[in-house]
Amino acid sequence: MDTTGDTHKSVNSPFYRNKKGQFTSKKRWLNNVKLRGSKRKRPRDVYMSTLKGRRIVELATLAEELWCTKCNIGLSLRDTVSETHNCFASTLEVNCRVCGTHYKINTCKSFNKESGKSTYPINGQIVVGMYDIGIGPHKLNDFLSCSDIPTVNPSLLKKYEDEIANIINQCTKENIEQAIDAEKLATIAANKIEEVI
Ligand SMILES: [Zn+2]
Repeated sequence: MDTTGDTHKSVNSPFYRNKKGQFTSKKRWLNNVKLRGSKRKRPRDVYMSTLKGRRIVELATLAEELWCTKCNIGLSLRDTVSETHNCFASTLEVNCRVCGTHYKINTCKSFNKESGKSTYPINGQIVVGMYDIGIGPHKLNDFLSCSDIPTVNPSLLKKYEDEIANIINQCTKENIEQAIDAEKLATIAANKIEEVI
């Protein structure tokens, strides 16, 4: 039995059947095949809808990642089948068009944490930028939206912002303590010099 979409035709039989298995004319059978073919998502539709809009991408990282190690040839973004957003970075699922191997492509540098999860420096860097220019998650999302870049869950940005604020506060505290220590040493040194004089 030769199967084309939901319609069937016996190889050695002049009879045509619809998807319910009922006999039908050749003309109607062909029309059904064409109709179902036109409704199917073509590869171009897949990558065009998946990769719609703009992204923040590290070009050197992407160039390194888009490579089939089996065929030793470049992979094409046209063979992207899905995308997972990791805050500002993305992981694209791309198939090699020669051997069909499935690859997970990172658009930005990532590091594996002890928990096994990946972390992306770009996320921290953008949140530092957001903190530095004095805007909050909602304003940042407004900017992303105007730039046709996927927005990020504000609660996730707030979490990053809190982590970074803690680090900045810790660094500031250490700097102040170091300054106090340096002041103390300078005072002691000055007193000693006065005693000698
Ligand atoms: Zn390949």
